[in-house]
Amino acid sequence: MPAPVKTQAVVLRSIRYGEADRVLHLYTADRGRVGAVAKGVRKVKSRLGGRLEPLSRVRLVMHQGRGELCTISQADTVHAHAGIREHRAALERGAQACEAVLRLLDSTDPNPPAYNLLCNELALLDASPGHAGRAQALAFRLKLLLAAGFAPELASCAACGEAEHLGAFSPSAGGVVCSGCEAGSFPLGHEAHTFLVDALARPLAEAPDAPEPALRQADRALGETMEYHAHVRLRRVA
Ligand SMILES: [Zn+2]
Repeated sequence: MPAPVKTQAVVLRSIRYGEADRVLHLYTADRGRVGAVAKGVRKVKSRLGGRLEPLSRVRLVMHQGRGELCTISQADTVHAHAGIREHRAALERGAQACEAVLRLLDSTDPNPPAYNLLCNELALLDASPGHAGRAQALAFRLKLLLAAGFAPELASCAACGEAEHLGAFSPSAGGVVCSGCEAGSFPLGHEAHTFLVDALARPLAEAPDAPEPALRQADRALGETMEYHAHVRLRRVA
């Protein structure tokens, strides 16, 4: 029998399976995305069950099964994020963050920046559920794109390198574009551009804010970048 695997993970999604089991989508600290079965967790007496809710950060012991799924033998709570569950807006943002990780990072390659970013986002939402705003959710999405290798070019024209007159965004070019390279682009105003630059530069806890139209433009830029380059379509944030 192979040695047990010990890791930390965030539960992204939990699906009923058979009579009493659940299949979990996990994002682990050192093994990327992992699918696992938690046996018997829907029984009333299960000790594991309550610790494996979506959004929970857990310390796990698992066994590699014969198929693709691991089997969870032990789970301890690192952070239950109970505060998120009490606020509808925070719960929605937390679920959005898990969904984005689930869709964007589907490999078993470890990605510590992505794991740490997700943990950081959930801890922030848990500590101040009232601050689960759109600007903060967009900052998370931008940083997640960076961790996944799809960060848009924001410093100079993604098509020709020009550093000025950057008033548009081109998903196919992969970033902001100048007035000479506008084909296939849409307008990205100064406020939206500044928001994206600041959101990338600052820690998640100090995410900038911006007026509503700027957030919508930034949201479109991130959404279409993801669709064009990662072939992932997520619900818009703003
Ligand atoms: Zn250009």
